[in-house]
Amino acid sequence: ATMPPLLAAVALAGRHGVLVKSALMMERLAGVDAAAFDKTGTLTTGQPEVERIAVLDGDEARLRRLVAAAEARSEHPIGRALSRIGSGEEATDFQAMPGRGVRAIVGGSEVQVGHPVLLEVAGDATAASTVVASTVVADLEAQGLTVAVALADARPIGVIGLTDRIRPDAAQAIDTLSTQLGSTPILLTGDNPAAARRVAEAVGIDQVASALLPGDKASRLGGTRTLYCGDGINDAPALAASHVGAAMGGTGSDLALQSADMVLVGQRLTALPAAVDLARKANRVAK
Ligand code: ADP
Ligand code: MG
Repeated sequence: ATMPPLLAAVALAGRHGVLVKSALMMERLAGVDAAAFDKTGTLTTGQPEVERIAVLDGDEARLRRLVAAAEARSEHPIGRALSRIGSGEEATDFQAMPGRGVRAIVGGSEVQVGHPVLLEVAGDATAASTVVASTVVADLEAQGLTVAVALADARPIGVIGLTDRIRPDAAQAIDTLSTQLGSTPILLTGDNPAAARRVAEAVGIDQVASALLPGDKASRLGGTRTLYCGDGINDAPALAASHVGAAMGGTGSDLALQSADMVLVGQRLTALPAAVDLARKANRVAK
């Protein structure tokens, strides 16, 4: 007996480095008419480099120790990069706040590292360093950097600017998908507008929604026939809400891999349009 076309397409997609979890998902993939992407770790390599460290309280060595210890167990690409900027402290009571950052006890202090909004939600607004921190954040964001703030016992101790390389095949993948789907993909990110725009321009995306929380990404995808591609814990709700969810393999978080309908095991974005093509052909034969 010959293999059913959609199942054969699953096998063929595997050769392109895409693990599609079922024949049913292959059929759904044939029906997508739009695509949306996460930024950090999806359109970018997920290996950000620290570009700037501004110390607001104490010395730089302490800032590096506290930040590195708090991020030691983070699964986020930014967290992994920050975990390497210092050493010598152990953290307890680690807690990840998806789309926001991390919290842990380090050296007797409650240390929080993450999105600049933490200055407002977790910081002491009366601390003079909070005003300084906001100014530094605005300056680094204007340079297109991704920015993380660090607080110890609600007082800002530092601001860190990072940048991430764009995946070499991102522009090609976006271009092919745009033609195929008849619509330009959109970028959905928790990062700041300037950093989002820098990446969007480089890959040929003109529709951008930034400063989104994990739930915001999901609510934009429900009820559409959108293919969503993401890599993080923060992408799990969007991967589940989308018509078809694709997780980045390798660096992707376990929760993203579980929530997705397909996995880019080869970490190649051009595998997405290849899989859409296979799905459409198989679906035509199956009908
Ligand atoms: P994206 O949608 O681009 O993948 P995320 O939603 O994961 O971005 O993160 C949004 C923002 O939250 C980041 O740009 C960063 O400022 C902050 N952030 C998230 N997790 C961490 C972390 N572990 N450490 C520091 N900052 C973080
Ligand atoms: Mg991401």
